[in-house]
Amino acid sequence: MQKLITILGSTGSIGTQTLDIVRRNPDTYRVEVLTCGKRIDILRAQILEFLPRLVVVSSEIDADTLRNEFENLEVYSGSDGLLEAATQQVDIFVNALVGIAGLEPTVTAITSGNKYIALANKETLVTGGRLVMDLAKRAGAEMIPIDSEHSAIWQAMSAGSKDEVDKIILTASGGPFFGLTRDELKDKTPAQALKHPNWDMGSKISIDSATMMNKGFEVIEARWLFDLQTDQIDVVVHKESIIHSMVAYRDGSVIAQMGAPDMRVPISYAVSGEKRDPTGASAMDLIKLGTLTFAEPDLETFKCLDYAYKVLKEGSDSAPVVLNAANEVLVELYLQGRIGFLDIQDTIGKILDEHEPKMFHHFEEIWQMDEIARAQTRQIIAER
Ligand code: NAD
Ligand code: MG
Repeated sequence: MQKLITILGSTGSIGTQTLDIVRRNPDTYRVEVLTCGKRIDILRAQILEFLPRLVVVSSEIDADTLRNEFENLEVYSGSDGLLEAATQQVDIFVNALVGIAGLEPTVTAITSGNKYIALANKETLVTGGRLVMDLAKRAGAEMIPIDSEHSAIWQAMSAGSKDEVDKIILTASGGPFFGLTRDELKDKTPAQALKHPNWDMGSKISIDSATMMNKGFEVIEARWLFDLQTDQIDVVVHKESIIHSMVAYRDGSVIAQMGAPDMRVPISYAVSGEKRDPTGASAMDLIKLGTLTFAEPDLETFKCLDYAYKVLKEGSDSAPVVLNAANEVLVELYLQGRIGFLDIQDTIGKILDEHEPKMFHHFEEIWQMDEIARAQTRQIIAER
């Protein structure tokens, strides 16, 4: 029996690679829902190839265009459309949206009875970690990681039991700027920051990798996915991106998951329900690699990673939302060439210093905090 699959953000880096897994396994999956922002040229080709029942695009004008082209297709638009997509019950719900825009669809998918939530959208757990995991538990929904580090941890966790885990070690490529000083980072342009050494990803996560905010987010994501204490989560810089992360057990064993850097591997593992289907990933050539290296992350220069640890240790629900909101606004401004590379981390630092942490009871409080922190970030930049 084919499994029904929804992919939010199907035209992005993760979305298109998820569809490549579907393409390779036509007997296993049937596409039910696809959504995208503005790239309806790519979506149109996906509709023709995968024949979804329902699609969502950002603008109503694009939605009308598609309604005219495809008679039997259900087409919606905007954030309401995304929520409509999330209410559709499917066997596998993949969230590959970028930013906090992914949180509400995840919540809606869970409350609508979706039981298998494969998350690429890390901002869901960064901003709503505690509340989302609580909700999933009560609803009996599984939260499945797509992020390569968390997939590696998930795989390595099967080598022992939870109470035998000493800690986890997330590997970080360090991004394009690892090893540079603050002074050398100052004038780095978006074009330079977008050139990731090992992975070809969307622009937002590429900048997050350059600032190491991405690793900070992954520390927070890991805390919630695997129910760990902050001091059980280590980060090591491993610039080859061959070991995707490790679990250290109390007997001294360290179990690593390795492979050529190719997101189709963790995507396939997630959507298949822990199967090892062919993915098209190239084989790992140890002789050619020769050496694998490891180094300590530089938290003084790359402050974003440090902020993530501080926010987690402090334990509030609000500070991670502020961290994420400020980062989203600043990355956007940086990509537009309106602020410098170091303004991202320096401004986040300022905003976190001024923030009074609190706990939340409802998802509403997350969206409100997000709005406030965004406005505050824009104001700080405008007043410079
Ligand atoms: P991307 O920018 O390539 O794609 C994002 C997708 O979401 C596109 O389909 C876009 O049209 C859609 N989208 C973006 N904003 C939207 C909005 N406001 N409303 C509706 N649709 C919107 O991003 P990506 O690199 O595929 O990353 C997706 C998520 O996966 C991010 O949270 C990222 O951190 C995470 N992730 C990505 C990678 C990777 O290799 N790309 C690896 C690990 C985790
Ligand atoms: Mg990752």
